[in-house]
Amino acid sequence: MRKSDDQKKQPVVLVVDDDIAVRLLICESLEQAGMIVKEAENGLEALSVFKRVRPDIVMMDVKMPKMDGFTACERLRQLPGGDEVSIVMVTGLDDVKSIQQAYDAGATDFITKPVNWSILNHRVRYLLRAREAFRDLCRSEDRLTQAQRVANLGNWEWNIVDNKLDWSGEIYSIFGLEPQAFGRTYEAFLRLVHPEDRGYIENAVDRALHENKPYSIDHRIILPDKTERTVHERAQVIFDETGKPVKMHGIVQDITKHKKTEAKIRFLAYYDVLTGLPNRQLFKEYSIRAIRMAQRDGTKLAIIFMDLDHFKRINDTLGHNAGDKLLEKISENMMVVIRASDIVTRIDNESRSKTSLSRLGGDEFTILLPDLTEIQQAATVAKRIIKCLSLPVKVAGRELYVTGSIGIAVYPDDGEDIDTLLKNADTAMYHAKDAGRNNFQFYAKYMNELTLSRLNMEAELKKALERNEFILYYQPQVEVATSTIVGVEALIRWEHPESGIVSPAEFIPIAEETGLIIPIGEWVLQTACPQMAVWHKAGFNSLRIGINLSSNQFRQGDIVKSIKNILATTGLDPQHLELEITESIIMHDVEEAIATLWKLKEMGLNLSIDDFGTGYSSMNYLKRFPLDTLKIDQSFIKDIMMDPNDQAITKATIGLARGLGLTTIAEGVETEEQLTFLRKQGCDQIQGYFFSKPVPTEKVEQLFLRSDIVKAKPKHN
Ligand code: C2E
Ligand code: CA
Ligand code: CA
Repeated sequence: MRKSDDQKKQPVVLVVDDDIAVRLLICESLEQAGMIVKEAENGLEALSVFKRVRPDIVMMDVKMPKMDGFTACERLRQLPGGDEVSIVMVTGLDDVKSIQQAYDAGATDFITKPVNWSILNHRVRYLLRAREAFRDLCRSEDRLTQAQRVANLGNWEWNIVDNKLDWSGEIYSIFGLEPQAFGRTYEAFLRLVHPEDRGYIENAVDRALHENKPYSIDHRIILPDKTERTVHERAQVIFDETGKPVKMHGIVQDITKHKKTEAKIRFLAYYDVLTGLPNRQLFKEYSIRAIRMAQRDGTKLAIIFMDLDHFKRINDTLGHNAGDKLLEKISENMMVVIRASDIVTRIDNESRSKTSLSRLGGDEFTILLPDLTEIQQAATVAKRIIKCLSLPVKVAGRELYVTGSIGIAVYPDDGEDIDTLLKNADTAMYHAKDAGRNNFQFYAKYMNELTLSRLNMEAELKKALERNEFILYYQPQVEVATSTIVGVEALIRWEHPESGIVSPAEFIPIAEETGLIIPIGEWVLQTACPQMAVWHKAGFNSLRIGINLSSNQFRQGDIVKSIKNILATTGLDPQHLELEITESIIMHDVEEAIATLWKLKEMGLNLSIDDFGTGYSSMNYLKRFPLDTLKIDQSFIKDIMMDPNDQAITKATIGLARGLGLTTIAEGVETEEQLTFLRKQGCDQIQGYFFSKPVPTEKVEQLFLRSDIVKAKPKHN
């Protein structure tokens, strides 16, 4: 738009000459060509006319009184707008010296006298057009500079022949340099590059020169204040007709911010924020690389999979913050072990050790052990980890003791790709858990079959709930002194449509692991309590019902509420409900357990410790629990007639219970001798095959009615 405006406008020419005849002739020929002509008769006057009329072009004589043409030209250039105007010096024909002087003074062009009047107007028009083109160029260059500034992008040109390097203003600001501080050679540029990146650039430049390959690279530069920046650079070479490289140009873009965001994104994508360890993604990438190398070299590698034992409990009882702290500490400790390990030190030299320990998520960690010379090395590392875990970890003012279970899978024996290896290491880890935790297992093929049946079991257990395939058996608990049935323990069974009766020992652990124990346990309560209420109504109203609570159920916040509900809806007297809890449940978080137990106790329930003697109860704590009954574990009863140890333990337990005012029940009593021994020791009640196996509802009712062993008639009524 601006251009067409200019075109419409008549060009203004200022003619400066002391010779009035010359001025007249110039006026004549230019005005005829449609231009506006202004006049001045010397240099001084020219300056003042220039200020007033702002001509597009000045025709300047050289020799004039007051101020000559060179001086006027120089001065004019310094006036506002003076740098844009075209100044044509009108010089003597062969005065080469003054032509040179004219250019030095800032003239655009020159015309020699005598002037060819017939072509003067063409000459002036040409000059005006050239000026317009030059202006356009300036404008677009201006726009380019602006755009480059916005993009933090500068351009450069390197004249290879004389090794002169020209930078645009933006490059100077990227490099934090003043133009005079830069040597303007390739070597001067290299000195500004991060030393580690110099060779890289030289290679790229060499290749560009010799193989005519344009390059596009990122490298770091060091600013005068020693800060580091990252730039992106692209360049290409210009060759002359003989194929010799003569120039190179390129652009430089400051991508420091970009790189930082990229690094952050990369960190988030590849590292675990909590521990700073590589995450699953990065672990897999490293593993894939390591597998490729192992395949090439014909070596083995191991994937070690570690899962903390009972980590969920720590999270649940001490809170997530404590859980996170624990994970952080453990990863630090493991890092130390791994660094110290011989095999991994070797890997360290190849700068891969930082990557060998990763956190897959939750409490799962993995270690990659490449270049195994023998599989035993993996076992060594696993043992060291287990040992390292056995040290107490201080978290939130407590000393926590944790253990871990480890599974190991070896390439290529246990899988050829990382997914298979991870899956198999995970399976092996589960077997380590099954084998009592705090140990490691190498993967073996049979494990997958077991895992499969475990998976099947989970799916089937869900169906069993929907299809109502569970039933309760009841096992009588008999008072030693009177031989009367004083209660029953409810024991769950699964009536599998194909396999028949399935024992709880087979499915309860899986129900616990999968969380299905919550609905299953609820079903037991909802079935056993109403049943006992029915028996009470039928007249056996002193009978007690024992119900097993699993650890998940106990820790779940609403067990208290759930039991309150059941008691309210069934009308069962709480003192006839006895909850059986194992030691390990309550010893885990003692304070919380005490609180829950007290809530239950205040409702009037009976509480018993199941499988007593197999856990790790501390007598100090036992005193603080509101307990009613100790159930001596059947493992002590089983060999009691042969094993003096078992006899001693049983005696002591009965004594202890009596001291604490608790009732004792011996479990697993199968023989008369056992009963006699227990009676002699003062055991209160027994439960076992000697009287009855656990039996279905109708069968246990028949037992209630058989008066010879059951005097379960109303006692205090
Ligand atoms: P437990 O609570 O220790 O139950 C006693 C187990 O000993 C029962 O096994 C019972 O059949 C068995 N038993 C009783 N007397 C004798 C005997 O004289 N000799 C022998 N060898 N065994 C005897 P069962 O019914 O197979 O239950 C196994 C475990 O499954 C139970 O051990 C309990 O921990 C769990 N369980 C059973 N029902 C439930 C339930 O409803 N909820 C929960 N959470 N766990 C349950
Ligand atoms: Ca029990
Ligand atoms: Ca038991």
